Amino acid sequence: MKKALLVLAGLLLFAAPLANAADQYPSKVITIIVPFSAGGPTDTSARLLAQYMGEALKTQVIVENVAGAGGTMAAARVASSPPDGYTVFFHHIGFSTAPSLYRKLPYDTLRDFETVGMIGDVAMTMVARKDFPAKDLKEMIAYVKANKEKVNMANAGLGAASHLCGMLFMSAIQTDFTTIPYKGTGPAMNDLLGGQVDFMCDQTSNTVSQIKAGKVKVYGVTTKTRVSALPDVPTMQEAGLPGFEVSVWQGLYVPKGTPKPVIDMLVKALQTALADPTLGQRFADLGTVPATREQATPEALRAHLKAEIDKWAPIIKKAGVYAD
Ligand code: ASP
Repeated sequence: MKKALLVLAGLLLFAAPLANAADQYPSKVITIIVPFSAGGPTDTSARLLAQYMGEALKTQVIVENVAGAGGTMAAARVASSPPDGYTVFFHHIGFSTAPSLYRKLPYDTLRDFETVGMIGDVAMTMVARKDFPAKDLKEMIAYVKANKEKVNMANAGLGAASHLCGMLFMSAIQTDFTTIPYKGTGPAMNDLLGGQVDFMCDQTSNTVSQIKAGKVKVYGVTTKTRVSALPDVPTMQEAGLPGFEVSVWQGLYVPKGTPKPVIDMLVKALQTALADPTLGQRFADLGTVPATREQATPEALRAHLKAEIDKWAPIIKKAGVYAD
């Protein structure tokens, strides 16, 4: 009995520092890792979320861009970060396509991360440089088919949402053309504005302001229904590509082993941020639909991530696109 008590006391002593660390959480700056360049859509959404989650957690939340290899470099960095709640990962649909697109990944998507919750859904838009010689999607498709040797499409690397949308587009119009990878669609947008690339498919969070300012041409939104931020822009289906649909879901993760009380606080802060009407409006202006309270939970994100990995695996396998 005495021995059992001693063992118990020892165990409690051992657990104390962990419990304290979680009790005191957060006591310093939290960093959200964004897997693409600054100035792009993922970065924009993450900076907004950081501000509102920081308010909820009463601490500063900053964003660090770890761009490269379609988001997989950042994922590797997060997987090997200390599981203490101070490194948080903001990623999108690309987290679920990478396991099929990359033959070797330096992390295991389902094993090396804890899920915090879904963040939201963003529509994509097919946009082109301002002087691209096509006035609507039908003309654009005809032009791309006729000039496939010379047109090019920007994306944020293999596994990015822009890459995925481009792959679906190529397959829908049964035409291959050159793609140009960037470390994010922020820099890709700069080149589109400068006329160095012809077109790209990117989240509305990066394109709405350029579309409204008339600095790029837009041919369609990729969601089933139109987006309230761009009411005059037809869906790709309306514009002539039946069945063409893709939207970019986003989620929040932490490294495996992050204590449950810490995850619970992050979940609460995420839910509080997403329920804030000001953030809701800013998301809506960017064509983003915030996750509901039920979606902004570890269970919902884990189930969605798993379902998306399973959904994309056969599609990508069939397309035969791989990175080494
Ligand atoms: N969202 C972009 C993509 O996945 C990348 C970025 O955020 O810069 O294509």
